Amino acid sequence: MSVTFADVEAAAGRLRGVAHRTPVLTSRTADARTGGRLFFKAEALQRGGAFKFRGAYNAIAALGEAERRRGVIAFSSGNHAQAIAYAGALQGAPTVIVMPHDAPAIKVAATRGYGAEIVLYDRYTEDREAVSRGLAEARGLTLIPPYDHPDVIAGQGTAVMELVEETGPLDMILVCLGGGGLLAGSLLAARALSPEAAVYGVEPEAGNDGQMSLARGEVVRIPVPVSIADGALTTHLGAHTFPIIRREAAGIVTATDAQLVAAMRFFIERMKLVVEPTGCLAAAAAFAGAVPVAGRRVGIILSGGNVDPAALARHLAA
Ligand SMILES: *Cc1c(COP(=O)(O)O)cnc(C)c1O
Repeated sequence: MSVTFADVEAAAGRLRGVAHRTPVLTSRTADARTGGRLFFKAEALQRGGAFKFRGAYNAIAALGEAERRRGVIAFSSGNHAQAIAYAGALQGAPTVIVMPHDAPAIKVAATRGYGAEIVLYDRYTEDREAVSRGLAEARGLTLIPPYDHPDVIAGQGTAVMELVEETGPLDMILVCLGGGGLLAGSLLAARALSPEAAVYGVEPEAGNDGQMSLARGEVVRIPVPVSIADGALTTHLGAHTFPIIRREAAGIVTATDAQLVAAMRFFIERMKLVVEPTGCLAAAAAFAGAVPVAGRRVGIILSGGNVDPAALARHLAA
């Protein structure tokens, strides 16, 4: 089952009045520094603090009534888990989130706060996917993965849809890249609404499996990378996301941790916006010149803002 722009439009219909239509921000300083005209889509201000709410809500909304009542399950310690918990609560779907037993207490508390049941597993001795599948089967829950799912991809595509509705056609769109749900959805929206735009994924330099996958023409798997971009520490693109990315993306570039910190500092100092390290990937590529933005109208997704204040202070002090 392949996902198309019609699915993104359907997702936009489900999300209307539910997801925030996040602002598109500009900065004269950013434009002066890069020579481009940059449009930042502030998904750090989305419900739950990241674009993940879009895909999670859409995937739950697309379930049949009986499935939704039985509930959904997700495995993640990050933004997808919180998004599923939040979106489930809004739609009357019980949620179970499988998290490592050493997940930060603040994240466990936030997820539980949305009403989810937390199941802890031992990340050194247990496989989270196996734990989740076992629970899903035993309890009749629907497993919603963080990126490799048509309804998740379609939901994520609504961010670029809104962006282009606001800016008009763009020359380039830069998208943070982990497993590729956001990039695949963005590509579908961009092809339909701004067909000339060159759309790039930006992943952590330490985990450039996407870049290698495009070069080889097949999904490349890497060990868990080490980067402060904790929302993009995926080891491979997905069976649904890779074909869309391979067909439609202009390319995949990378950003270093130092470039992410510089971007975080810029957003706080100049735009009064807290963007988490992963959320800075696309902007960092523009600021560091990884893609040629000078003279171009460039859309940039700031994908999320969930960073622990103490971690933020450490990054900025370093
Ligand atoms: C999940 C996430 C990403 C990566 O999204 P994929 O769909 O996995 O590529 C980027 N930024 C933030 C803030 C995220 O939470």
